Amino acid sequence: MATVTDYFGELVFDDAVMRESLSQEVYTSLRRTIDEGAELDLSVANAVASAMKDWAISKGATHYTHWFQPLTGITAEKHDSFISPGKDGRVIMEFSGSELIKGEPDASSLPSGGLRATFEARGYTAWDPTSYAFIKGNTLCIPTAFCSYGGEALDKKTPLLRSMDALNRQALRILKLFGHDEVKRVWPNVGAEQEYFLLDREMYRQRTDLVISGRTLFGARPPKGQEMDDHYFGAIKPRVAEYMEDLNRELWRLGIMAKTEHNETAPAQHELAPIFTRANVAIDHNQLTMEIMGTVAQRHGLVCLLHEKPFEGVNGSGKHNNWSLSTDTGMNLLSPGDTPYENAQFLLFLCAVIKAVDDYQDLLRISVATAGNDHRLGASEAPPAIVSMYLGEELSGVLRAFENDEPYLSTGSETIKLGVDSLPDLPKDSTDRNRTSPFAFTGNKFEFRMPGSAGSLASANIMLNTAVAESLRIYADFLEKAEDFNEALHGLIKHTVTEHGRILFSGNGYDESWVREATEQRGLSNYATTADCLPHLLDEKNVEMLSRHGVCSERELRSRCEILLDNYSKTEIIEANTMIRTVSRQILPAIAEFEDRISRTAAHKAVIVKDLDCSYERDVISKLSALADNIYRVSAELESAVEEETAADNTEHKARIVRDRVLPKMKQLRECCDSAEVLVGKEYWPFPTYESLLYSVE
Ligand code: ADP
Ligand code: MG
Repeated sequence: MATVTDYFGELVFDDAVMRESLSQEVYTSLRRTIDEGAELDLSVANAVASAMKDWAISKGATHYTHWFQPLTGITAEKHDSFISPGKDGRVIMEFSGSELIKGEPDASSLPSGGLRATFEARGYTAWDPTSYAFIKGNTLCIPTAFCSYGGEALDKKTPLLRSMDALNRQALRILKLFGHDEVKRVWPNVGAEQEYFLLDREMYRQRTDLVISGRTLFGARPPKGQEMDDHYFGAIKPRVAEYMEDLNRELWRLGIMAKTEHNETAPAQHELAPIFTRANVAIDHNQLTMEIMGTVAQRHGLVCLLHEKPFEGVNGSGKHNNWSLSTDTGMNLLSPGDTPYENAQFLLFLCAVIKAVDDYQDLLRISVATAGNDHRLGASEAPPAIVSMYLGEELSGVLRAFENDEPYLSTGSETIKLGVDSLPDLPKDSTDRNRTSPFAFTGNKFEFRMPGSAGSLASANIMLNTAVAESLRIYADFLEKAEDFNEALHGLIKHTVTEHGRILFSGNGYDESWVREATEQRGLSNYATTADCLPHLLDEKNVEMLSRHGVCSERELRSRCEILLDNYSKTEIIEANTMIRTVSRQILPAIAEFEDRISRTAAHKAVIVKDLDCSYERDVISKLSALADNIYRVSAELESAVEEETAADNTEHKARIVRDRVLPKMKQLRECCDSAEVLVGKEYWPFPTYESLLYSVE
């Protein structure tokens, strides 16, 4: 049997393949582009294209595609074959440097939020040489960015790459000040922990709500949910184990370092974590991982649910974004060092993140805003919609000492002064992790826990990278002019802690009282829904900051805001319509049938035995009749709320109708139906219940 090392990365045009198949000169030049962002010239591209094609053909590929991430959140591809007409009516296999660098998908039906007039509908895709090409099926996939002819970003990758550049530029300025002239490039790294549910495919197919919206719109809670906490890290069931094994193999072949897997808190919930890598590659890998999770599930008679909240009352799924900064020389800028000087640098980068998260809490919230994630954020198992940060007791203590010019515990009576030799040793391993914090420092990285399981991590990282770049820019402007560097540095750290201390919170983020404290005393923002937060994308300070760093122009932000709001409303309207249809065609008929059955029983019994009470039958029928009437009425009300949304004429207004009218009615309708479910005989209920679904996989 082949071992993992034999097939790991076999479907990737990676460094080893490049080194083998390219001339030394071409390889070195491409490497410079990958590592330092150097410009790539066409002769190099031609050589790479030719080698890539030969390699792909040797692996059985016949087609190629520019693989990109449009604003819909999934990935898109349009396949072209390598075939070109040759002499004598034969074909040759061709692929040029310009085809590699630039593609022109006819993507006129992908959303552009008004950025692309139909006459210039085509837009173009541009190769991202920093993310390796790979083979999927018979197709060579080339990771690309997607722009309009005016150069405006129509995808998630373009601003992501721009944000990585912005961060690099500003971080290099800071590193210079610390004497690190040798550093050429700084990268954000991302490790994406992906949560998901596995269900039996047959059961799934019986539920229109799951098939259409990826979540259950009905369903009474099961008698046993996650109360016993017996699923978390529990033994993995054989069928799930087979799935995970198969999934790992597929991911490893694609060079994705899937590393850990375990059961999650909820029944049927699991998690996969890869080893972290550069942000853009990690995000490409996560997109691929989500896709492959689905296709592998199919092979096993399973379905993989990536929705953030597939089951009411049961933990939802998130995607933790583990984030750090590293240099081409191997430094992790978020890792406390061995010397006071290194620690001063570490503290400055730490402060840059604190400032960024506080100044742009709204952007972080916006970056994870989707209809699906709204159902999860603020529910009992997920971080609330309020952004706050957790640093661990020791680090918080160090910062507090700075703020108050007080001695820090481990330094005895000395006050902390960045002189710089008196800086205390910093904790290397914050073990006291706070699982309720939406943004936690975990030793040498931050873990942003708000992103939802179904979405792309691009937006979260775009905002994070750029906001941190902005802090670093302000710091560098100040420090470059400083007469006494240490003095200025000390002041800067102190100032940051004083100004932004409100974002630091070590308590229980799930607690009711936190919401009050955060909003009333600390003035943190709390946007419960996508409709609430998205319009703030266009707040002046946000537009100013994102365009200053060349990450998104105002026009691009407007288009994104439009698309995201539209997506929010459409998602919920589809769900509402699914509910209305399910109620009239499945639920009400099922109730009627069961009532009929019960009344016949009662009638028969009355013939056999005189003066029977028949209180069970009477009770159930009267309860069900009342519920059915309610269901019928609320469903009609939901229908008119949907009509109101249809009639509204702008996206923001539509989103507000969805939030204020449609969603509350959906909730009400669901409650009536769930009450009916527990009264109706199991065989009469038209689709599998929570018990069956959640415990469907052995
Ligand atoms: P937990 O479930 O306790 O949060 P896991 O071990 O499941 O932790 O996941 C941790 C994730 O963080 C992994 O994807 C890992 O590769 C990633 N990670 C570890 N170190 C770094 C780092 N320096 N930068 C970014 N991500 C990191
Ligand atoms: Mg985690």
